Amino acid sequence: MTKQHSVKRDTSEIIGLLRDSFANGVTRSVAWRDQQLAGLAEMLRENSEAFESALQSDLGKSPVEGVLTEIGFLLSEIRYARSHLKSWTRGKHLTVPLALLPASARVVPEPYGTVLVIAPWNYPLMLALSPLIGVIAAGNTGVIKPSELAPHTSAAVASLIPLYLDPRAFAVVEGGVEETTELLGQKWDYIFYTGNGTVGRIVQAAAAKNLTPTTLELGGKSPVYVDDSVNLRAAAQRIVWGKLMNSGQTCVAPDYLLATPSIITKLIPLLADAVRDLYGTAVQQNPDYGRIINERHTKRLSALLEGGTVVFGGRVDIDDLFVEPTIITDVDLDSDLMTQEIFGPILPLIPVSNLDEAIAFVNGRDKPLALYVFSNDRSIRSRWIAETSSGAIGFDVPAAHLMAPGLPFGGVGESGTGNYHGARSFLTFSHEKAVLTKPLKPDTLRSSVMPPFTETKQTIIRKLLNKLS
Ligand code: NAD
Repeated sequence: MTKQHSVKRDTSEIIGLLRDSFANGVTRSVAWRDQQLAGLAEMLRENSEAFESALQSDLGKSPVEGVLTEIGFLLSEIRYARSHLKSWTRGKHLTVPLALLPASARVVPEPYGTVLVIAPWNYPLMLALSPLIGVIAAGNTGVIKPSELAPHTSAAVASLIPLYLDPRAFAVVEGGVEETTELLGQKWDYIFYTGNGTVGRIVQAAAAKNLTPTTLELGGKSPVYVDDSVNLRAAAQRIVWGKLMNSGQTCVAPDYLLATPSIITKLIPLLADAVRDLYGTAVQQNPDYGRIINERHTKRLSALLEGGTVVFGGRVDIDDLFVEPTIITDVDLDSDLMTQEIFGPILPLIPVSNLDEAIAFVNGRDKPLALYVFSNDRSIRSRWIAETSSGAIGFDVPAAHLMAPGLPFGGVGESGTGNYHGARSFLTFSHEKAVLTKPLKPDTLRSSVMPPFTETKQTIIRKLLNKLS
């Protein structure tokens, strides 16, 4: 039997098992869902060290950063989901229009069924398991496909999930393009994909064959705008923090910075100070600073440096998968540096003459996943909200919107479609079923909207129409 055949059989066997479990009601009770969420939290707590070391092996991620941005983030999402689970699953009652009375209306959330979650390599644990929290809470069964580019984390997830979650309902399938293609060839009830837009299109095309709903969490270039109403030193520190987290391999990292030429001149030394402040002068030796995922991406980043003049940093060590925090000016807007998502520790500074030009610059490009504005001027903040479109806006802080579970997290246009986190994770993996109950007695329909349309009925209908105008 060829490898392809065995993968195929395994995949359909797994999906068959999950579908049977769903049909048999394994996932229906709220108590079972809560137990699974508790199991997921237990897995993270009991194996925190194993996950931290897997993340370190895959990305050189410091254990504390692993705890902050992956394990801790997941634990707080699980806690939030567990504390809201009962109210989410209850659905909600709605008012009905007078003309329909007596009647009652409610929205009942129902699980889709069997879900596929495809994760990328940059936050390989968090992005595989964060959607899973919603999958579980909403009462689905599901398969997780971690990224093959983060093999240690993928292996840890694959070996531990079956020990902590009900294997009748959840499975992990490891692998790369071949295995994912195989998975995408199957019929799913929902597909949740995080990664780049090229593969996002492949996922959506595969989903379209079965009219399967999808969420696409994609990336792109997230701009930063800075004006001189803010403390530039404090702004520079936050921008550098957001940019260098995970060595810039963060979907919501500031990609490039827009400011007037005089602000750019002031910002260059402040950004450099911030790098030294956070990571010292020997960045390569600092264990808090991670590595690029692989040689291909390190070389890609090295080539991006050609897109302008390096005014700070710029050193690349391909063998060590190291790219120094780098600031670039005199940027060629047609170079790869500005036409591709950077996804690394390189920050281009682009001069604009005023706010209008900055807004036009952003609007002339794909809608970003996030947009960051450092300004104390309320009217300027309002203009960015009203005149641009992006997945999110952060005023005076990059990336932190992820930590507010009440905020939907997702993109728009090229940066993605759909969202999750907090209650949105539950809703993403639930079909909101409309339920209307109208008693047969008194029969208000027969006496108002059903034929024959007597003069009295016509008068009633026209009166109702007038009320609408
Ligand atoms: P990746 O290479 O790990 O790919 C993502 C997933 O797609 C993997 O599981 C991989 O196996 C699968 N895949 C790759 N090629 C495929 C193919 N031809 N057919 C089917 N499946 C395939 O990760 P990536 O795409 O390089 O991730 C980085 C991108 O993801 C960036 O653009 C980043 O901005 C974006 N991202 C977005 C978010 C978000 O939440 N919006 C989060 C993280 C990353």
